Formats: sequence, C-alpha cells, structure tokens
Amino acid sequence: MKKKNVLITGSSRGIGRACALAFAEAGYHVFINCRNSVEQLKEVEKEILSRGGSCMMLPGDVSSPDTVRSMFRVITSPCGNSSLQGGLDILVNNAGISHFGLLSDMSDEEWQNILDTNLSSVFYCCREAIPHMVSQKAGKIINISSMWGVSGASCEAAYSAAKSGLNGLTRALAKELAPSNIQVNAIACGVIDTEMNARLNKEERLALAEEIPSGRFGAAEEIAQFVLSLADAPGYLTGQIIGVDGGYL
Ligand code: NDP
Repeated sequence: MKKKNVLITGSSRGIGRACALAFAEAGYHVFINCRNSVEQLKEVEKEILSRGGSCMMLPGDVSSPDTVRSMFRVITSPCGNSSLQGGLDILVNNAGISHFGLLSDMSDEEWQNILDTNLSSVFYCCREAIPHMVSQKAGKIINISSMWGVSGASCEAAYSAAKSGLNGLTRALAKELAPSNIQVNAIACGVIDTEMNARLNKEERLALAEEIPSGRFGAAEEIAQFVLSLADAPGYLTGQIIGVDGGYL
C-alpha cells in the first residue's frame, strides 16, 4: 500500500523533530528539513530508520523561494522507493525563529529575517504543495503558530506580527482550499520546552511556569501528538487556530 507523504519543515530538533518521529512511527514517509543543523537532521534520519520508519532528508532554507522549489521537485518526483509515488499528503509548516528585544532596536535585516522565516516560508511551501493536493483532491496543511500571534508579546513584536500573519493566512487559505477538500489549520502553541527558550535562565523559567495554569512548559511530544491527530481529523475541521498552551490564554 502507498505510504502517505508528509513534509515537516524545521525537523532537526524541537517540535519538528518530535513531529517527524511521531509521523514515521504512524507509518508516514517523512521528508525532514532544516537550514543549518544538518548533523542533527542526520541523527533524526538515523533514529527513524533504526525504528523501521521511512524518511528522506531535504535540507534547505525554507525562507528562500528557489530552495523551496528545489525541495518540491524532489518531493513530487517518484522517489525511487517502490512503495512511494511523488506527492504530498500533509504539509507541516513548523520552521521558525524567535527574536527577543525592543522593536525600536531591531535592524531591517532582523525584521525581514523574522518575517521571511516565520511567514513567507509558509507561503512558499503552500504555493508548491497546493497544486499537488488539488490534483489529489485531498491534503492537510498544519501551521505551527504561537499564542503570541493571538495575544501579542512584549519584546517579541516582530515574532507576534509574523505569527498573527500566519493565523490570518491559515483562516483565509482554509476558505480558498475547502472546495478542493484541503484543510488548513494552525496550532497556537504555548511555551514549549525546546531550544527556542534556551535564553531563559532558571529563575525566568520558574517565573514563566508559574504564569501557566498547567504549571509547566509543554513538551514537544505533546504538540507532535496533536499535529498527528490533526492529520487524521475530519475534513470538516478547517480554518481553526487551536490553542495548545496549558491554559495560558
Ligand atoms: P527550535 O529552535 O527548537 O527548532 C526550530 C527548527 O526550525 C530547527 O530545526 C531549525 O533548524 C529550523 N529552521 C529555522 N529556520 C529555518 C529555515 N529558514 N529553513 C529551514 N529550517 C529552519 O524551535 P521549536 O521547535 O521550539 O519551534 C518550532 C516551531 O514552533 C516554530 O515555528 C516556533 O515559532 C513555534 N513555537 C514554539 C514555541 C516554543 O515555546 N518553543 C512556542 C510557540 C510556537 P536550523 O537551525 O538548522 O535552521
């Protein structure tokens, strides 16, 4: 039987890595990606293969439209594995970076990098994936967003703006693609225990955890579990920004 294909951007560590392992475990063929940490991505590949899963490394900067085009040339061509045909069933737009600091101190380059990595990358990946999903008359796009895209965070204005844009893109694209049986949803993650929060010292971590009704940071595996359930969700669930934030908002 043909395996379903999923692309998870930014899957060398954190939430993306947890998603890659969860989808592989569930029997998907997983395209894994990152920009810089290729050695870590190889470790993810090794882990998937050692558990009997199936994956392909597609390193590349998803904030570059040309790189995304090249990645999709590979995804949409027959992959040389007899159980696989070219194509994509699920797109998980996970790659992202944060920036902490006053907006007035941000350079043009820093602003552009936040917007390109967290928002434009999603446009580039969706633009390539949609024609294949439309021809299959099926597909799911799952965007990894943030609760700060809903409520805004002080000293993370650019990041909040990018994730807010991602939420708007999710809602609009869901309407555009619903007639083609393609569902688009976003997860507004709360504070998740990954390298993205490595800048926090012990005291800051404790103080932040106290603000969260669940009393702790979320685990990347909890988000992965939810992403996997969205991939299997009824077709009538679309255009939603779903909070997984320990009750924070
Ligand atoms: P990590 O920093 O742990 O991982 C980010 C991943 O994205 C890495 O694999 C990184 O690889 C990749 N990446 C970054 N930029 C690019 C790029 N241009 N092209 C390809 N890959 C890229 O972060 P998290 O796992 O915490 O974050 C994952 C997503 O979840 C992000 O979108 C983030 O905004 C969102 N999120 C996270 C929260 C948290 O508290 N952790 C809260 C809310 C949302 P490399 O470095 O090699 O490029």
